[in-house]
Order: sequence, then structure tokens, then C-alpha cells
Amino acid sequence: MEDSLVKDYLIIKPSPKKLHKECNKDLWAVFKDNKLMVFNRKGDHSLPTLKDIKDHNIKIFNIQCIGELKGVNLMCGETNVEVKSSEIEYLDLMTLGKGQDELLYTIATKGNLLLNWLKLNKRCGICGSENYIKDSYNERALVCSKCGNTTWPRTSPAVIVAVTKGDKLLMVYNKLFPQRKYSLIAGFVEYGETFEDCVKREVYEEAGIRVNNIRYFASQPWPFPNSMMVAFTAEYKEGELKPDGVEISHAAWFSKDEVLKVHNKSFSIGSKLIQWYLENY
Ligand SMILES: [Zn+2]
Repeated sequence: MEDSLVKDYLIIKPSPKKLHKECNKDLWAVFKDNKLMVFNRKGDHSLPTLKDIKDHNIKIFNIQCIGELKGVNLMCGETNVEVKSSEIEYLDLMTLGKGQDELLYTIATKGNLLLNWLKLNKRCGICGSENYIKDSYNERALVCSKCGNTTWPRTSPAVIVAVTKGDKLLMVYNKLFPQRKYSLIAGFVEYGETFEDCVKREVYEEAGIRVNNIRYFASQPWPFPNSMMVAFTAEYKEGELKPDGVEISHAAWFSKDEVLKVHNKSFSIGSKLIQWYLENY
């Protein structure tokens, strides 16, 4: 088990308001039509700094402060003008986590989750009146202007699991995501369900087998649109592999050599689980 995927330097202090004075080094997660604006400098993707924003005269709205990191404000917002520059690219959010670094992923993920939460909660879920942003340094919340109902940013948990049998790993082919090729079993946690029961249910539904010795591994935000992937390891208990035919068209026990053929190393939590298998079996 890993202690945390997030290294110390990635611990971001939440601050609904800016804690520090604006500075040219402030980092911005700017979204246009659900794509992330990045600067591509000699192949290195980075978030624009405040200086970049000023230099290119980028107009941003729905501005929010995500937090601060080592005295630098982490900001997010949206733009509706595609700036013409050879340095600027707009990345599909689904491709985040493949090539970019973990800091960029973390800031972009938090920004995307925050902006989506604000968009989806303009009005109170109880009385329908307008919500306002709670004025607090320590708590990010929306409060109803009429009944006082408070709403906090929401995360929908999903599980992903590495199931082993002897020295082999269960890999499945999900026909809904053919670009992922073979991957691990994953799925959303149902309301009122424990993570462990979700692991058991998803593995049984998708692959037809029972597992035991379920152990927590690590977690990672997954902004599509507001999930949190919670990763586990588990061991085969009983049953024959039987893919559900709906999502999973093929399920098999892969040897290390077979896993290596289909595995693309990245910092996604699925990749880290597979890496854990390769190093420990
Ligand atoms: Zn209300």
C-alpha cells in the first residue's frame, strides 16, 4: 500500500479567498469549452502564470482561488476566446494524466471540479433560491440566500481494483473504452454502499468471480466530472471468469509478461496499481 500518491509539495492549502497578494508567478487553470489551456514550451506543458495571462491579454471570467502553494496563488476560471498563439494548446480533460506532470493534473482537476460544482449549484436544492458563496477562509461552501441550506463541493467515489490469483492479475477489456485496451475493473460506488462491497459487486458483475482480502491502496481525484477513484487490491476467492458482455467483452488472468505488453506507465491510479503488481509478483 502506498501512503499517498500526493507528495508533500503537492499539498495545497484550500483557500476560498486569496491568501497572498497577486503575483506574476500565480498559476492559472483556465478552461475553454471544457478544455484546459496550457502553454507548450519546447514540449513541456505548463499552466499559464499570471504573467502569461497578462502578456496574451486573456480575458477570464468565473474566477476562483483554488488555494495556495508555497506563496503562489492557484487560480481557476473560464475564457471564451481561443487565443491564437503557437505556444498555447487546449487539452481535452480526458487526456490529462497521460503525459503531463502531477502538479498540473492536481491543479487542473481541482479547478475543474470547483467550477463545475459552482455551475451546478447556482440555486438551492431545497427552496430554489439563489445560493451565495460563503465568506470564509477555511470553508468552501454555498449557502442559500433564503433558507440557509449549505452545500459543499461533492465528490462521487468510484473504485478500481487489482485482483490477483497466484502470480497473475485480472485484466478486462472494456468495450465502452476501447482506447484503454486492457485495464482493471472499476465502477461507481452505489449510494449507501461500502467501498469493500462495491469492489466485491463490481468484480462479480463484470467478471463473475468472488474476491477476498480487499485492501486499500490509494486514491486519486478523477474529474469526469467529479469522481474520486479509490484503489484497492484483492485476491481471487472462487468462481469462473465470465465477462458481463455489456461493458466487459473479455476478462483474463494475465502473467507479468502479458501485463507488460498492454501497460502504459503513467501517474493514473490504475497505472500505479498495475505497477504495484509488477513490482510485487
Ligand atoms: Zn433554500
